[in-house]
Amino acid sequence: MPRTRPIALVLGLLACFGNRSQAAASDPDPQVTAIRCGYLLAEPGSPPIANAIVIVEGDTVRAVVGDPAQIPQNAHVVDLSDQFVLPGLIDCHVHLAMEFTPDVRLRELQDSDADRAITALANARKTLLAGFTTVRDLGSSGDAVFAVRDAINNGRVSGPRILSAGEAVTPTGGHGDNTNGFREDIFEQPTPMDGVADGADPCRAAVRNQVKRGADCIKLTATGGVLSNIGAGIEQQMFEDELRAVVETAHLLGKRAAAHAHGARGIKAAVRAGVDSIEHGTFLDDEAIELMRQHGIYLVPTILAGKTVEANAGIPGYYPAPVAAKARAVGPVIQSAFGRAYKGGVKIAFGTDAGVSAHGINALEFVYMTEAGMPNAEAIVSATTSAAYLCGIQDTAGRIKPGMAADIIATSASPLDDITELQRVTFVMRGGEIVKKDGASLLRP
Ligand SMILES: [Zn+2]
Repeated sequence: MPRTRPIALVLGLLACFGNRSQAAASDPDPQVTAIRCGYLLAEPGSPPIANAIVIVEGDTVRAVVGDPAQIPQNAHVVDLSDQFVLPGLIDCHVHLAMEFTPDVRLRELQDSDADRAITALANARKTLLAGFTTVRDLGSSGDAVFAVRDAINNGRVSGPRILSAGEAVTPTGGHGDNTNGFREDIFEQPTPMDGVADGADPCRAAVRNQVKRGADCIKLTATGGVLSNIGAGIEQQMFEDELRAVVETAHLLGKRAAAHAHGARGIKAAVRAGVDSIEHGTFLDDEAIELMRQHGIYLVPTILAGKTVEANAGIPGYYPAPVAAKARAVGPVIQSAFGRAYKGGVKIAFGTDAGVSAHGINALEFVYMTEAGMPNAEAIVSATTSAAYLCGIQDTAGRIKPGMAADIIATSASPLDDITELQRVTFVMRGGEIVKKDGASLLRP
């Protein structure tokens, strides 16, 4: 958008001098766009509207109208009258600065924060072109993702809206301790600045440090995890006073707390400590489902991650032995856990854990969600309005209505009928900037 401002300024100046010619008045203003939609799903969960027109001004939706006569004269018209238009998608769980491959541990030793920032930007743009106009990054080492987020927010590069957790808060040897399994002289002992903390006070310091460096939300590892190179299982790994310290400090500072949790005991402890979401929820039992429902805690399912690690664990040497063992335990049950949670009335917000899987294939998660019994319409709600609520951006993103960010995508047929349409997004507008049209990227290099 910034590159278009000077033209708008010139038009504004002409108008000020009172000699704006007739030709200039009818020239399209690059700040005003009218999108003619075949169908518009303005409010996911409600029926789509036929032949609606979305008026965008700058980075914001100004109006949704039905009569072509209401298109402003100076609008640049985008014809999506044979397309299905919906709000930009939101993935509540990604790791932009990495992508797991067998050489991931070698890259831990080689990559600088600068390398990671370049990686994160490339992955963010792949994700944007796949129709995800907002992502929540739940744990990346160093400052890389903050730098990418800020560059996008400042208009220096195009990309999705990024909410970043910084470093996950984790105990020594926990799922978020990036030094697990390395020779002891390679990395310095991690500290609360790196998110590693044992005991309630260091947990408070770890949260405060992430907020100090710019975190939008807080990630904590309530249980062990699959891809950390340590044979400590996937059950609870933080004490209740540590969980409470993390959540209370996050909430004190106005941030949401997202708990990575696989084992049922760890899930329940995290829910009782007041977290805002359970990420993964692999071994949810009936009691955990009921607790989450009662407390209105979101589940972010990440079925795609479970399927990915299960498949990779079958490739000899792909993962270290402790990781492969955990992957074989989690993969086969994560989809049915999601299905039971959904049927048990738990609130669902879309998330993939992309970075475990390849970036840009995030919409495959919809297929797994609907296979497990969630109707297409509700799966779309989970990635728009519900995800916006979990991320605290419900007044900005997740719907197409006046005052909301102009984050708009399209598919060539209705994803309400065929959810795989979301894997073939044809059009992406992010903050009023068209970055994909007719299926082709328009991103500035
Ligand atoms: Zn994750």
